[in-house]
Amino acid sequence: MPLKTRQSSNIQGALLLLALVGGVVYLALREAPPSYEVAIPIANGTPTASQPSWQEVLQQQFVAGATALPQAALPTASYAPPTLEPTDPGLVFALEPTQLFGTVVPTNTPLPPPPSPTYIGPTPIPLATSSAVEVVNVAGGERRWQPPPLPLPISRDPRDHYWLARPVDSSAVNYGLFYYSYGSDGPEDAWRVHHGVDMPNPIGESVRAAGPGTVIWAADGFRVELPDGSIAETTYSYGNTVLIEHDFGYRGQPIYTLYAHLSAILVTRGQRVQTGDIIGLVGDTGVVTGSHVHFEVRVGRNSWYAVRNPLLWMVPYVGHGVIAGRIVGPDGELLDDQDISIIDRRTGRVVQTASSYVRVDINKDGLPDVVADDAWNENFVAGDIPEGQYQVVARIDGTRVARLVEVYEGTTTFVELAPPEQVTPQPASDGAGS
Ligand SMILES: [Zn+2]
Repeated sequence: MPLKTRQSSNIQGALLLLALVGGVVYLALREAPPSYEVAIPIANGTPTASQPSWQEVLQQQFVAGATALPQAALPTASYAPPTLEPTDPGLVFALEPTQLFGTVVPTNTPLPPPPSPTYIGPTPIPLATSSAVEVVNVAGGERRWQPPPLPLPISRDPRDHYWLARPVDSSAVNYGLFYYSYGSDGPEDAWRVHHGVDMPNPIGESVRAAGPGTVIWAADGFRVELPDGSIAETTYSYGNTVLIEHDFGYRGQPIYTLYAHLSAILVTRGQRVQTGDIIGLVGDTGVVTGSHVHFEVRVGRNSWYAVRNPLLWMVPYVGHGVIAGRIVGPDGELLDDQDISIIDRRTGRVVQTASSYVRVDINKDGLPDVVADDAWNENFVAGDIPEGQYQVVARIDGTRVARLVEVYEGTTTFVELAPPEQVTPQPASDGAGS
């Protein structure tokens, strides 16, 4: 028995020793440095255009040690837009939308007015004050690759409301025409101030609901119905138009989206739609010089005077953000119709230009017709900016004003451009105190 006990003790001792050695080896391995090195550079000094950002350095290191992704050959076939004449009445049917989408409202055939108006109409839409309302000549033009939009909805900043999908697919042009942005009056200041964004596309491109809701208008022109049911005005400058009242609101206010100049309307009034449902086809009906969809966002009431910048509502692309800002004068007053450049800090290249809002019409509430966002109170927006650092540059009274900003994915970066502070010369110190 004692022998057996001693043997048992020896075995227990050996096991204990093994456990101790194992534990030490485990701890040593656990504390061992990884077999690769990641040097995170520490920012020092003033960033320069030639100094890569730490994200780039990290990315280079990770890429260097990573398995290469398979390379996919980009398609080389060029897109051939439809060549049918825009005015061809058979166009809609040549596209055979009935087979694709069911019921079709033919071009230029207004729906009969509803038997009993159920919604209170908007403020009448002013007619064009210049010869052309929408001047777009790039239909069927070159398409560029666009990243897919981020998943909806996004409010990474509490002030953000990227809740709406883009009304056109990523395979088409689903960004606004840069020279006729929201609130601008176009090149040469010759066009009517824009209350939406224009997405130039060939006739027949799908137009999709930006969010879930109910179709409250689906007809040629835009009829204004007063509370007593009478028709106050009909304007056909919008062409075939769909209006959706969305299922969600914003700060207690309803939200509407409008899609104009369609070649075909594929929904009917009162119909429920979900985000992405095809509601019509891009066209050139109404007052236009090229096919596109005019997209408006209205907040609070269904009025031409209640528009907001769609760039602050449509979800950004993957890896992209939005710059919103104010350009103000010496007394903090908003400056209209100013050019703003967004310059990549590293390359020094202008990646985008923006124009501050032109607020020409004052409505009955004494407010300008181009409305700023409820949260941002901006007077310019530059959308679709890749993540990174940028200089936002403008001239105020002949003085160049620049601000360095950082753009993050799926959120808004706000910047204010103001004249430099007037530095009052200090009297030379003579030691006499204050
Ligand atoms: Zn437009």
